[in-house]
Amino acid sequence: MFGFLERFVQAMESRGGLGPVLRYGKTFTRVHDPLMWRDTADALLREAGVHVIYHAVAMRALVDGGERVDGALLWTKEGPLEVRARVTIDASGDADMVAMAGLPSFVGDDGRVQNPTMIFRLQGVDVPRFLARHGADTIMGESVSAALREAHGSGAYRLPRVKIWIFPTTRPGELLCNCTRVMGPDGRELNTLMARDFTDAEIEGRLQVREYARFFRDRLEGCENSFVNDTGVQVGVRQTRQMKGVALLRNEDILAGRKSADGIARSPWPIELHAGAKPRVEWLLNDWYDVPYRCFVPERGEGLLAAGRCLSAQHEAVASARVTAQCFAYGHAIGHAAAICAKDGVEPRTLCGADLRVLLNRDGARLD
Ligand SMILES: Cc1cc2nc3c(=O)[nH]c(=O)nc-3n(C[C@H](O)[C@H](O)[C@H](O)COP(=O)(O)OP(=O)(O)OC[C@H]3O[C@@H](n4cnc5c(N)ncnc54)[C@H](O)[C@@H]3O)c2cc1C
Repeated sequence: MFGFLERFVQAMESRGGLGPVLRYGKTFTRVHDPLMWRDTADALLREAGVHVIYHAVAMRALVDGGERVDGALLWTKEGPLEVRARVTIDASGDADMVAMAGLPSFVGDDGRVQNPTMIFRLQGVDVPRFLARHGADTIMGESVSAALREAHGSGAYRLPRVKIWIFPTTRPGELLCNCTRVMGPDGRELNTLMARDFTDAEIEGRLQVREYARFFRDRLEGCENSFVNDTGVQVGVRQTRQMKGVALLRNEDILAGRKSADGIARSPWPIELHAGAKPRVEWLLNDWYDVPYRCFVPERGEGLLAAGRCLSAQHEAVASARVTAQCFAYGHAIGHAAAICAKDGVEPRTLCGADLRVLLNRDGARLD
């Protein structure tokens, strides 16, 4: 991955906010410091002269004459705020603007989405001892799964997920834990588009964090003196609503490593599907697929583009295409697309993805 992502990576590295390359099954990953991420983003936005409005929620799409999105009505503490824009980018993760504009969207596999996870940070860990005992692969091996299975089965702990990911971080004595499998109190799968499900996910997520942390402390070598430092700022949402785009990224495009002339980002990430009892991983080895520009252009409606995980992609496809580095690449591409449309007074659907690709290559994206 190149382009804007590299700039962000360098800025993070200069602050000491990015850890070394770690093994993640058949591929690799890096861990970031979330506070330094925010510092870095603030600095880049300030440097670029962006007018940022935090703590504002888009609550209505301003739709002009039929299906042209003309901006958004935001909810802020000082009251409603109208923001008019030549091009609006829906980077809400949930395709909120698409839905509010009444444009076509869909939810997961016939309404079924991947489960949320409450991430947490465990401190006071003897990390070298933990790694010596449990190995350096961040996908924990069978011995840890077996211990989880036994502890859950005996009724001593409530641990609904036994295949877990654990990452040493940039901070001494700390592990980042991707362990929980958040379901409703009645065992139902949660869709955080629903206010009740989002609330239940937060509450159940925190309860599970305590259970996993107790298990770690009691049963995993190196964690005897550990304690929970914090959870994510909110429960982690993998999937909700997708925009229905001019093109749809299909499951088979991922597995076939399909390349596309109007591809504006590359992804080698596996399909990492968190649904059911155990996450399913399908690797893409020594290969990648292209994500076409048309996956970010709505099937109907003007003045709007999507970016991030709410792109037009099938259920399993989004389980690969949603990851962070790719979201940076989408942002890089869609930012350029919106700027061209605003400057030249054209609609996003008239832009040619292949031309955008040339521009991105000139801007360091190295797609060819
Ligand atoms: C538990 C978990 C673990 C993950 N692990 C990894 C990993 O190890 N590696 C990896 O690369 N990726 C991982 N991912 C995936 C990745 O983090 C996300 O898919 C990616 O960050 C999505 O980025 P996004 O910008 O599209 O959406 P989000 O990060 O969800 O951002 C959307 C933003 O829009 C805001 N928003 C939403 N609605 C509105 C509205 N109506 N008005 C105003 N603002 C709004 C939200 O508050 C949020 O700030 C993980 C995801 C989860 C949930």
